[in-house]
Amino acid sequence: MKSASEKPFALFFVSRADDCRYHRGMNTPANNALAVKQYAADAGFDAARITTPDAPAHTTHTKAWLDAGMNAEMGWLETRAELRGGRADDERLLAGARSVVVLAASYASRESASQEAGARGTVARYARAAEDYHTVIREMLNALAGRIEAGFPGAKCRGFVDSGPLRERELAARAGIGWQGKHTNLISLDLGNFFFLAALLTTLELAPDTDPAANHCGTCTRCLAACPTGALIAPMTLDARRCVSYLTIEHRGAIALHLREGIGDKVFGCDDCLAACPWNERARAGQNARLAAQPNAGRPDLLQLLSDTATEEGFRARFRGTPLLRPKREGMRRNACIALGNVGGTDALALLQTVVETDPSEVVRESATWAIAKIAAR
Ligand code: SF4
Ligand code: SF4
Repeated sequence: MKSASEKPFALFFVSRADDCRYHRGMNTPANNALAVKQYAADAGFDAARITTPDAPAHTTHTKAWLDAGMNAEMGWLETRAELRGGRADDERLLAGARSVVVLAASYASRESASQEAGARGTVARYARAAEDYHTVIREMLNALAGRIEAGFPGAKCRGFVDSGPLRERELAARAGIGWQGKHTNLISLDLGNFFFLAALLTTLELAPDTDPAANHCGTCTRCLAACPTGALIAPMTLDARRCVSYLTIEHRGAIALHLREGIGDKVFGCDDCLAACPWNERARAGQNARLAAQPNAGRPDLLQLLSDTATEEGFRARFRGTPLLRPKREGMRRNACIALGNVGGTDALALLQTVVETDPSEVVRESATWAIAKIAAR
């Protein structure tokens, strides 16, 4: 579950002479779409499909989900649901918008398991790169917008990554990037489910892709079975209040006692439902090395994590430029204590006791007390 807190960003670019072979001839919407897809590949995206700015089908399921409070404290999801993503909204986001380019950037990469000793936490795969994916994808969107605006004088573009009011997932499904699996995320036959979505609104008329991907979940229920906290309460229904990804990243304050064991060693996010999906087995790796995992970034030493975050300066120095700043220092230390309670040994007791005695946060102190009791009980 990625942050959706940031605002849409404006795209700035430098015009340059265009050398595209596609639109030297006829500027038909079909030719334009071909050109834009090539530009997207050149910018580093692994897939690009086109759709119109018409509102994606708005299901009663979404309203019922929000009404039941399953978006937890993520109020921006209600705001996003109110914005239908239709022409009126797109007109407000970009005057004259005629097409939406939906883009996928894979972060799937081959990682060797950490062999280092000591209690280790787990960080979600999307956050293991050296840079925040928002930064990387914004640059890719800027490059794509620059090519379009230089190649098609008068065309205007505006890009969004996990941050704007566009409902990228529904738009991507309609454009044929993939289908929405029972774990609620999009799956592509080519890319599996470890990829970011982004969208570029443009005033350029592009021929839309009108062949949405078929749903290949069939009778499979692996993702539901893999969820450690029972957050996937039914196919396509995620109760964020129980989801480890939400709890470790977005939730502020103490984590409910009955959910702590299910968190296991996770200190930032959760991949269990995504990793269980069999459509990852033949997925190709992404082409952008800046989104690939850094060695051992997914398995931090928990005692080191607690030591490094003993001060706000230490926390910022360790996670600067990465999505791991999102839970803030209190949330990350709370998570590290709970993970130690679940997987730590007696060598963690002294540091946890120091946390109990010195940490300014009651949430962190209580989590450390809980961890000490759990370790002692083992
Ligand atoms: S497997 Fe993890 S990320 Fe998926 S729904 Fe369950 S807790 Fe959330
Ligand atoms: S694990 Fe199975 S049910 Fe879940 S999303 Fe993947 S294919 Fe669909």
